[in-house]
Amino acid sequence: MNDADSTLKIVDLHASVGGKPILNGVNLTVRPGEIHALMGPNGSGKSTLSNVLLGHPDYAVTGGTVEFRGRNLLDLPTEERARLGVFLCFQYPVAIPGVTVAQFLKAAVDAVRGRGTVKASAFLRELREGAKFLEIDEVFLNRALNDGFSGGEKKRMEILQMMMLKPGLLVLDETDSGLDIDALKVVAKGVNRLTGPSTGLLVITHYERILTYIPPQFVHVLVDGRIARSGGPELVRELEARGYDWIREGAATAPPAPGGAS
Ligand code: ADP
Ligand code: MG
Repeated sequence: MNDADSTLKIVDLHASVGGKPILNGVNLTVRPGEIHALMGPNGSGKSTLSNVLLGHPDYAVTGGTVEFRGRNLLDLPTEERARLGVFLCFQYPVAIPGVTVAQFLKAAVDAVRGRGTVKASAFLRELREGAKFLEIDEVFLNRALNDGFSGGEKKRMEILQMMMLKPGLLVLDETDSGLDIDALKVVAKGVNRLTGPSTGLLVITHYERILTYIPPQFVHVLVDGRIARSGGPELVRELEARGYDWIREGAATAPPAPGGAS
């Protein structure tokens, strides 16, 4: 599989929720090895985009394509997208009582990488190594998934799952919200170990905090369901200083000096 195949190409994507148009022509290309940040005010459609990438049934695609590995993801059921190597990290991980972390992760690895591809002994070795790397106590691996876990513990489990699945495209949606700084650093450590020449990363966030630990090369600002501006890391600092309003109103109107905004 060559690198070009693993490029995520979102072209003129339109989507509605409950009949209301939310995405109004999103264009975005994420190549393997690239880290993109998608920022934007609350309600601009960031999570709608991640839900559309996941194939959430509440989000109706009304136009456009999402190419990845030679397929239009929008034509595929969610599990097929996962099998192609798409991994989405959401704000609120679910709890699965009665299924241990280790069982859940083995099932996920079998589903994505193919049953029997990874032997139980190799899986366990990799799992223990990953848990150690993410500072997860081994006792957690035999507890029911996310049942009674703290926000930080759930997030570590999700990152562990990601490390076991080795996705070709990783989307993090507001992964930093509700995490304390230590949990955030562990998340970043896992993400940064995974990302390399063969994985593309899209970090969706309202705040710049996570981008300190996972520095993007490309930054996009979503406003009213469209990418209103793209730039490099300097755009993060500009948004931090000036907020989002100057983009919404159009950059042509003289904005306040950086640092001058409250
Ligand atoms: P963001 O993640 O940028 O804050 P969202 O994509 O969550 O924005 O929301 C964009 C708009 O879509 C908002 O007006 C929100 O109320 C609406 N929306 C999102 N999800 C749903 C849903 N499941 N049902 C109804 N409206 C929704
Ligand atoms: Mg959101």
